[in-house]
Amino acid sequence: MHFSAKVAKSKGRARSVGYLLRIAAVALIALQAWPGPARATSVDVAKPLTASDARIAGDRVRTRVVFEFDRDFAFSTHYVTRPDRIIIDLPAANFSLPVDSLKGAGLFQDIRYGTMDEDSARIVLTATKPARLLSAEVLPNEDGKGYRLTLEAEAVSAADYAKLVAEQSWTASGKGDRINTPAPSGTTTPADGRFVVAVDAGHGGIDAGASGVTTGKPEKEITLAAARDLVERLNKEEGIRAFLTRDGDEFLSLSERVNIARQHQAQLFVSLHADMLKQKDIRGATVYTISDKASDRMADDLAHRENLSDEVAGVSLQDAPSGVADILLDLTRRETQAFSVAMARTVVSSFEGQVGLINNPHRYAGFRVLQAHDIPSVLLELGFLSNPEDEKLLLDEAWRKKVADLLAAAVARYKAGAIPNGG
Ligand SMILES: [Zn+2]
Repeated sequence: MHFSAKVAKSKGRARSVGYLLRIAAVALIALQAWPGPARATSVDVAKPLTASDARIAGDRVRTRVVFEFDRDFAFSTHYVTRPDRIIIDLPAANFSLPVDSLKGAGLFQDIRYGTMDEDSARIVLTATKPARLLSAEVLPNEDGKGYRLTLEAEAVSAADYAKLVAEQSWTASGKGDRINTPAPSGTTTPADGRFVVAVDAGHGGIDAGASGVTTGKPEKEITLAAARDLVERLNKEEGIRAFLTRDGDEFLSLSERVNIARQHQAQLFVSLHADMLKQKDIRGATVYTISDKASDRMADDLAHRENLSDEVAGVSLQDAPSGVADILLDLTRRETQAFSVAMARTVVSSFEGQVGLINNPHRYAGFRVLQAHDIPSVLLELGFLSNPEDEKLLLDEAWRKKVADLLAAAVARYKAGAIPNGG
């Protein structure tokens, strides 16, 4: 059995406890927020809800958003800032909505929905101006077919919105809002002496990332396929143990990814991506390390977009670290940074002549997912989904396996340099 299987199991246990807590929280909030007869929370855990249609109508004073579901369910709502968003948390759901059924309109400029983890889904309404829910309810349709979630929002003043945010009972129970607590033993060598590598598939769940210019394939699927290939390949290396931060279509906040790496005492963190650029002719791989000052405009833009991942999923940034600028201060961090740079260079030299690289393939910028001060971290853009040739390669299993081979070789060489005794 691979280590990744063990990780998945213990994660499952953690989730089920979290799920019970979440049900309790949902029930509590539902009672507090929507007084009236309490609805039975008959949550069918086995089968996700299905949303088959949705619509939005209204103006900048009042806007209504409706989702059509197959059955009744309990949900909770809360408000976050920067930017102002209304979050609706619901049980696991499949959203098979017609394309463009929910374009921004009225009070909302953007509406997203999707999986948070195996037990829950989320809808995020990003407001054009502060707005609150006048009502939110699930009602049976008159024709007896299915239920509709109706969200009725109205514009409020900035002061009223701030009050709403401050007074809401929702605290840190929601997924992705956990405080970024440092692990007590992040730098300890794991018991079996093997070199532990966290492989992080970028994006996931509600955050689909970029999409292929030709096929529309979401980045989150490509990164997961590449991450699985890499973990499998790394686990064949002597003295290396690799695991996935996510092994399914679920959302992880940027700091959760780092926390998972710490929990498993990772000694190296590799985040895989395949983003898109406005300049469609640019192609090839790039390796990024963290820095408070970006190497160039492109790196800065990419980091900015990657850092939006939490925002897309409605994670409040209040608990996030205060800024990348603080990160490089102490010695541990400098040492970690030196190792990150060494890893980036090793990957570049491993790819040279084998995998297409962009000009100046080692770049740096303020990626929040690379924030661990104690774990050397790199973010690898395997290629760009905005370029048709890169897209073709990214979807090609044989190419991904080749990349996994080269990356595994790079990790082995890095490990040999990082740990003189070979671990
Ligand atoms: Zn990405």
